[in-house]
Amino acid sequence: MSHTSSSEAPVIIVGAGMAGLSCALHLQASGLKLRLIDSGDVVGGRVRTDVVDGFLLDRGFQVYLDAYPETGALLDMKALDLRKFEPGALVFNGKRLKRLMDVFRRPASAWTSATAPIGGFIDKLRVGLMRSQILGSTLEQIANREDRKTESYLRGRGFSEAMIDSFFRSFYGGIFLESELRTSSRMFEFTFKMFGQGSATLPAKGMGEIPKQLAARLPPDSITLNQKVVSLDAHSVTLSSGEQIHGRAVVLATNAASVGSLLPDLKERMPEWRSVTNLYFYAPSSPINESIICLNGSGEGVVNNVCALTDASPDYSPDERALISVSVLGLHPEEGLPAKVQQELMGWFGECVAQWCHLRTDLIPEALPEQTPKAQKYKLGFIQQKGIYVCGDHATSASIEGAVISGKRAAEAIIMRRLSVL
Ligand SMILES: Cc1cc2nc3c(=O)[nH]c(=O)nc-3n(C[C@H](O)[C@H](O)[C@H](O)COP(=O)(O)OP(=O)(O)OC[C@H]3O[C@@H](n4cnc5c(N)ncnc54)[C@H](O)[C@@H]3O)c2cc1C
Repeated sequence: MSHTSSSEAPVIIVGAGMAGLSCALHLQASGLKLRLIDSGDVVGGRVRTDVVDGFLLDRGFQVYLDAYPETGALLDMKALDLRKFEPGALVFNGKRLKRLMDVFRRPASAWTSATAPIGGFIDKLRVGLMRSQILGSTLEQIANREDRKTESYLRGRGFSEAMIDSFFRSFYGGIFLESELRTSSRMFEFTFKMFGQGSATLPAKGMGEIPKQLAARLPPDSITLNQKVVSLDAHSVTLSSGEQIHGRAVVLATNAASVGSLLPDLKERMPEWRSVTNLYFYAPSSPINESIICLNGSGEGVVNNVCALTDASPDYSPDERALISVSVLGLHPEEGLPAKVQQELMGWFGECVAQWCHLRTDLIPEALPEQTPKAQKYKLGFIQQKGIYVCGDHATSASIEGAVISGKRAAEAIIMRRLSVL
């Protein structure tokens, strides 16, 4: 058992994902000691990059939106060497890939985008109107707007079924990890604003660089990895080894599933999970040759989105080969999936796909917490339960920014309590 007098005792943070790291950095900035404990082998939780045969494999297709205000305030973006994606997408319409760009960012593409057979001309005008309304709103205004399912929100804005089916379902399906568009319209507006104000990016050396950079600002002995917390109260945690660690306060910054098992009273409030299957292939060359996301707007097949990560950052490959990431919504454990995906993508990119080699498939059952309007209701940034501060993306929005905000709010509550007892 490790004991320290409570005045010098650290705040114990369970979970070194983006929420836990954000909480730790804000506590550190206010002069508090902290100790981060994580059951994983690296920091970052769901944001991680594995090196396989020299390729950088992010855990699922993830991007960092460089307009995220709170995460941006914590990061040294220059050191991350962010590589931008083009603002738009190539949409497969069942026959070929068609370009649909954000014409406000790429005016030169106005004609191709306006005439691309993805939605009608009126749809594109409606995108422009929606853009100016959302970009003209603050994040606070968005968070307080009437909430409904994204699909009904888009219909309410007058978009055609064709535009919703061929673009919004696949683009936002890849972000929300569900293509029914049942996700909260507040989350839609938040994401739309972030895309409109900045770029989707990748750190040159993988998404895992983001949490690594944050962790490097904390004292190395404040982070303990490979240790699972099995129980906790307001002032102590117990590890699976039986060791008990005491602190001045305890923050539970795990994902929703761990919150439910460590604090059963909160289980009912924890959202369901959305899942995704991500496949990596390497190829002699990129089938796209452009830093852009390709979407399935055909309504057929299993693939949702495809991207050649090496077009954004060549560092994702150890040599000249291209690294291709393919996302399939939901869990698909079937052995034949890589061959099925390759067969399907021949329709998009032609015979070159036959030369692709399958590298790895990640089944990610606990990818994003559900974000229907109903599931959004309890989201206050963090929860206090039996004196324990509970934070994570489940308490705000399912995103890096949501996790960072939640960690910050928990830290602020601890700092406020400390000030009130001084
Ligand atoms: C495939 C995929 C794609 C995504 N795409 C994007 C994207 O493009 N842009 C974006 O902004 N966001 C994206 N996200 C979401 C984003 O990654 C998450 O919302 C965010 O990282 C969640 O951070 P967190 O700290 O709340 O939780 P987590 O990252 O889950 O961290 C929780 C930590 O707690 C630890 N832990 C759990 N239980 C215990 C225990 N008992 N004891 C000790 N430690 C424990 C875990 O090991 C983990 O490190 C994506 C997520 C996935 C999976």
